[in-house]
Amino acid sequence: MTEQKHAKKTVAVIGSGMAGLVTAYLIHQDKQCRYHVEVFETQDQLSLDSASYTISSADVYPSLPNRIDIPMRAFDEGFHINLKRMYDYLGVGYITQKFVYSLSKYSTVDGKKSPPYFFHSSSNHRFPPVRPEGYGYLQWIVQIMYLAACYFWFIVCCFVVKPKMASTSKEEETLEVYVKRIRLPWHFVKNYLLPLMSSVTTCSHDALLSFPALDAVDYAKRTYRQPHYTVIGGVQGVQSKLSKGLAVSFQATVTSVKRADTKLEVTWVDSNDKSHISYFDHVVMAVTPDVVGALFEPLREVMREIPVIWGESVVHYDSSAIANSSRLLEKYSAKTQKAGDQAQIMHITSDPLSTESIHQQSSTLVTNFPISPIDPNKIAHRARLARVLRTPKSREIVNDIFTLDKSELKPPKEELFWYNGKDNVWLVGAWCWDGMVLLEGCIVSAMRVATSLGVEIPWTITSSES
Ligand SMILES: Cc1cc2nc3c(=O)[nH]c(=O)nc-3n(C[C@H](O)[C@H](O)[C@H](O)COP(=O)(O)OP(=O)(O)OC[C@H]3O[C@@H](n4cnc5c(N)ncnc54)[C@H](O)[C@@H]3O)c2cc1C
Repeated sequence: MTEQKHAKKTVAVIGSGMAGLVTAYLIHQDKQCRYHVEVFETQDQLSLDSASYTISSADVYPSLPNRIDIPMRAFDEGFHINLKRMYDYLGVGYITQKFVYSLSKYSTVDGKKSPPYFFHSSSNHRFPPVRPEGYGYLQWIVQIMYLAACYFWFIVCCFVVKPKMASTSKEEETLEVYVKRIRLPWHFVKNYLLPLMSSVTTCSHDALLSFPALDAVDYAKRTYRQPHYTVIGGVQGVQSKLSKGLAVSFQATVTSVKRADTKLEVTWVDSNDKSHISYFDHVVMAVTPDVVGALFEPLREVMREIPVIWGESVVHYDSSAIANSSRLLEKYSAKTQKAGDQAQIMHITSDPLSTESIHQQSSTLVTNFPISPIDPNKIAHRARLARVLRTPKSREIVNDIFTLDKSELKPPKEELFWYNGKDNVWLVGAWCWDGMVLLEGCIVSAMRVATSLGVEIPWTITSSES
């Protein structure tokens, strides 16, 4: 038994978000028991569910779970293919979740929110859309026809007009250049497309316009008419399934990873600021690019090119944050609840630079990356969250790291490039794939490491093989 343990390869996983936990789960479950996995987490609890918040049962409809996922972890069939397969394999329960997005404006001059100018329902499940307060029938019909035409044009272009890729003289096309090339009306882009997309990417409009066009087009295609899902009871259930039996060191902040002869040296600091050194055969960094750069010298320079922003999700009861739109939506919400159609409401409010989204669950509100003030006396919980952004440059870097053809890398060229798995150092995370930085990237990158280590992915095995 002891001999077998010594024969095992040791793997350190740094970070216990979705990517770290899935990687650790897969390697730990290796059928041939070849690996001993240890997870390092800087927080005093697993990170996947650490920012979430439990609301008292009096605050919620009896049918709703009382754990609010922060950040929200919605997924859908077309985009989150591997995440959904994993949930099915693990027996994680989820429900179809409809959303109604109310779009309004926030004035930075007088600090007021205008009444909503449009109600968008996810996958257009409610047609015709709710008529905004103050809109006459004619104005409403003209708006719907205008939006239907713009939306139709955008979707057709996504399917038939490919974004331009990088050439020797030019970077690849950004979303801004693409929407201008397909002549999508700027009024539609500014007032409808950007606010709705920013609620997914939680970044400024300028940052979103600088995304590779391919990301936005691919996302629009893959999520087109797809139902959204949320996990019943929140991701805490996923977290406990993935972490079962794992060895985790909490309040263990890794400060450096480097090669030391045939092993990898991991330096980490405990809660008493005491420094430790441990040696492993493999190290998996499941952290954001800025942290990777700080820990791992070979990637220090290049990680600076991948933007990471920080923002807050705030759980509160300040209904004045949505006062202008609440009456009509309350009526709509009550009607849909009665009909057993649990559409959740998202209040999307934009100023000229960015968008905040307020997720309403009964009287509890969650504002993501706020742009307008919230009464401090009505705040129940706040969490600081990182978001990795995409640019043509960062996409190029990520693709170089993950898709480089290693057979082309003979010395001395080999020394110039770092690729995933070089010297047994691996990267996983929502940003470690070629697509929007969402949970699917966590699963794809974790599966990639497991496959490279010869570990079977149970949710990709067909029933005839198992
Ligand atoms: C507001 C918001 C809403 C979102 N909504 C959705 C959604 O609806 N659907 C979806 O698919 N995705 C969504 N996302 C994206 C998704 O939640 C994240 O991309 C994903 O959770 C990132 O997971 P990760 O494992 O890559 O990294 P992280 O969750 O960032 O995990 C890394 C962890 O490593 C730990 N760590 C950091 N440094 C160290 C160190 N030095 N030593 C040890 N440990 C360390 C930290 O505790 C950290 O939490 C949303 C994101 C935000 C911000």
